[in-house]
Amino acid sequence: DIVSPAPESEAELAFEGALRPRSLAEFVGQTRVRGQLQLLLQAASLQNRTPDHILLAGPPGLGKTTLAMIVAHESGRSLRMSSGPAIQHAGDLAALLSSLVPGEVLFIDEIHRMARSAEEMLYLAMEDFRIDIMVGKGAGATSIPLDLAPFTLVGATTRAGLLPNPLRDRFGFTAHLEFYDDAELERVLERAARLLELDVDRGALAEIAGRCRGTPRIANRLLRRVRDYALVHTSGSGDRRGAVGLDAVHAALELYDVDELGLDRLDRAVMKILLERFDGGPVGLNTLAVSVGEEAETIESVVEPFLVRIGLLTRTPRGRVATPAAWRHFGVQRAGQTLF
Ligand code: ADP
Repeated sequence: DIVSPAPESEAELAFEGALRPRSLAEFVGQTRVRGQLQLLLQAASLQNRTPDHILLAGPPGLGKTTLAMIVAHESGRSLRMSSGPAIQHAGDLAALLSSLVPGEVLFIDEIHRMARSAEEMLYLAMEDFRIDIMVGKGAGATSIPLDLAPFTLVGATTRAGLLPNPLRDRFGFTAHLEFYDDAELERVLERAARLLELDVDRGALAEIAGRCRGTPRIANRLLRRVRDYALVHTSGSGDRRGAVGLDAVHAALELYDVDELGLDRLDRAVMKILLERFDGGPVGLNTLAVSVGEEAETIESVVEPFLVRIGLLTRTPRGRVATPAAWRHFGVQRAGQTLF
């Protein structure tokens, strides 16, 4: 899917890797977060200590992994990468933590999906660079303290609210990443086009920027599809062979089923069910999730933030509600109401 939250193939992973900004200066947008991170890294460097633990919160594709890599790179430290789902037991975390080299940056993606037992071990590790390892079972069990090398934890989560308070409190700094505006997305695309040595019209860039759900990952992905389309379909020769114009963007967007707001199939499915089956709501998250056959967490952390941001949906204490703009955009007529 063109808007699926995560990279979909090895090819896309490699493509993303090639386009990742390597420094804070190259990282587009998120001005506040960049300034805050810069300060945090400089202060640590002046005091010659490991930077504070950092929590990065926000929907997929906004640059959390990229920032973790930048933190390591800018502070001249190596980076270890893991993810919540890979940490099923406290032992998995103990193995990871005890193998860190001094000063290393440990990135844990989807940190809210780590096992509970590991979470508790992480509290102590973050605070005191120490863990207690349980040996044996039952009455004979003892715990052996183990000192760790100092490290900086960078955690990423699609929703900070899913983290238990004691874990959230142990991060020295939490950054909430926002969706990017069109001008920022154009800069992301310009940079990508330059790195890929693509010849893209201004209008084409602007059009992609307006259709990528405020998300750099999707912007780059659309650019890649549009590039393919232009390569196959333009008849130009010489220098302009493969040049990307607005027509290629429109054709590729149509082919991949992205509408004029950048909504994808799942976004539209959620909105249509909300409008047509539940008369615009209010309807509870779980009911909505079951109706579209998705997990509630995906609806809440991937689909809804953007629908809220563009004003199609609101969250109320009684449930999700479609806005008047949603009724207009989908051209659905409300039961019991006439248009004129
Ligand atoms: P997340 O970890 O939040 O899902 P990533 O850091 O993997 O997102 O970013 C996805 C892709 O989007 C990366 O390959 C990167 O090239 C691009 N990207 C993200 N944020 C930016 C940014 N601020 N400037 C330029 N490119 C970005």
